[in-house]
Amino acid sequence: MARAQAPHRGDSAALAHWVKGLALEEGATLAGIADPRCPVEHAPQLLSWTAEGLHGPMAWWPRGDAQRLDPTSLLVGSRSLLMVALAYDGHQPQLPDWTPRISRYAMGRDYHRVIKSLLRRVVQGMERELGLVGWRACVDTAPLAERYWAWQAGLGWIGKNCLLIHPRHGSWLMLGGLLLDVELEPDTPHPARCGRCVACLEACPTQAFRGPGRLDSARCISAHTIENREDLLPPDFDPMPGKWLFGCDDCQSCCPWNRKALGASPLLAADPLLDARQLHGQWPRDDASWDELTRGKALRRMTPAMYRRNLAACGGGTGSLPSTP
Ligand code: SF4
Ligand code: SF4
Repeated sequence: MARAQAPHRGDSAALAHWVKGLALEEGATLAGIADPRCPVEHAPQLLSWTAEGLHGPMAWWPRGDAQRLDPTSLLVGSRSLLMVALAYDGHQPQLPDWTPRISRYAMGRDYHRVIKSLLRRVVQGMERELGLVGWRACVDTAPLAERYWAWQAGLGWIGKNCLLIHPRHGSWLMLGGLLLDVELEPDTPHPARCGRCVACLEACPTQAFRGPGRLDSARCISAHTIENREDLLPPDFDPMPGKWLFGCDDCQSCCPWNRKALGASPLLAADPLLDARQLHGQWPRDDASWDELTRGKALRRMTPAMYRRNLAACGGGTGSLPSTP
């Protein structure tokens, strides 16, 4: 199908519509525009979160705060921020109680690569019609407050579980941002629709929420299994609540907005081999099968040493396990 021709550079509303169309054609589930030059409304909450040490095991987090509050510092001359979301299937199959489990987003291809590649294709589409544009793609690889900007771009609201929620796709979404030096008309932020629900705050097995939207990462399974690089986990995480080997979905699977979430993008489909291994508790015991299992997946953020530690905390750490870095 022939692509629509780009509108005139000076027509920011029509250009925004066209660029969002490019993103959707390339496989984004949702696309919206925010203005990165606007002050971050959530700045006080972001700064106090860091000041109180609620970033927990993410020791690198405070270093990015200044840039997090000013995305234009990530790309000189930024005038627009295209935010995209890709849906994945967050429903965990029925698993036996003894099986260590993996957060659903990590079951497929590495979303960093998938979304960055999508955003590069958007840039190529733009440059075919507009000539060179200045851009920078951010997919958890730069200090961009992705959820905040996705909310600003109209993709959903930030739930009490701190995640972006879309009325039809729930929170089973991975986000990416594309800073551009092209003027695009921004979308309108989405109104919050959590209402009086507190299901996520109550479902957290480690009581990691200090209040709505206030997560203490030092108490979060996801933060420890993915970001904690210490040899030993804190005592509250060994044995691991819920047998989470990598990530944790408990504050999402309870969310009413996820019950009827629409279909997932094929770009983030779960790997059937990994699904089968999880179901039968067949976790790699040697370097080669570890390497094969995690190649091209976000799961690889967990080093073999972390894998051994997490698996042991899940009760499965016997026998020889991979040793390569
Ligand atoms: S990811 Fe798990 S441990 Fe972390 S806040 Fe959500 S439910 Fe709690
Ligand atoms: S579980 Fe309820 S409070 Fe939590 S994010 Fe979902 S709708 Fe909001």
